[in-house]
Amino acid sequence: MKAFKKNAGWLALFLAIVLCISVLYEPHGLKAFFYPYFKNIHYQWILFKTRDYDEIETEHFMIRYHANDDIAKLVAEAAEENYSAICKMFHYYPEQKTTVIVYDDAQQMMKNINLSKEKPPMGAYLASTIQILSPELWISDKGNMRSIFLEEGPMVHEFTHLLVDDLAKNNYPLWLTEGIALYQEYVQTGYEWGKNLSYSEEPYTIAQLMNEFHELDEMLAYKRSFEIVRAIAEEKGFESLNQLIRALGEGKSLKQASIQVLGAPIEAVYE
Ligand SMILES: [Zn+2]
Repeated sequence: MKAFKKNAGWLALFLAIVLCISVLYEPHGLKAFFYPYFKNIHYQWILFKTRDYDEIETEHFMIRYHANDDIAKLVAEAAEENYSAICKMFHYYPEQKTTVIVYDDAQQMMKNINLSKEKPPMGAYLASTIQILSPELWISDKGNMRSIFLEEGPMVHEFTHLLVDDLAKNNYPLWLTEGIALYQEYVQTGYEWGKNLSYSEEPYTIAQLMNEFHELDEMLAYKRSFEIVRAIAEEKGFESLNQLIRALGEGKSLKQASIQVLGAPIEAVYE
């Protein structure tokens, strides 16, 4: 027993040293390693909170809803519509069906995604789930609801966030995942974010996007993120973005990942 205690002590010391070295050597690596476990706990909690919702199932999605059945079917259609094309671009197909939660109550949605904004978003990605506001609440043209939701709805955008999060394991700056999500919207639906917006001053730098994304003008910060991602995709191919997010998922910093994939830090190439 004594020998066991002594050995256990050495083992604990050894593990502590390994942990310290790995944190010092690659702090993002540890974050990326543990993230899927924390995410799964959060995911189970979301499922628990929405356990009394109605549910329909498609080939790749579980739609939970309180809205009417037609809305759930429309969300299911939109979810499946671009699924294959998006997954193909990332060479990645989630193992489990993706849970989509449709809210017919904006306040409930804001509460469930811990958001305190004045205006609820059309959709949000949270811990392997896509949370969306019923299109009935933001599309006033009821006669054209289907086509408007398919063209302008949040499914492509939020599903892209899910794929990026799975692959980069939460080890990515917000501007990068927003840029990639907007780029997928552009590729899949032709919608070009901020096309008619212009900068009154110089476009934001990557350092600004990196460090103060929430303090910047939201529309222009998204526009700039989209432009940078689009430039990378068009000049180096979408494959380079695939490699970049996978390198982040291995625990590399954005600087290390971009030197590996783009040959230089991202700000040196795209500013
Ligand atoms: Zn987004």
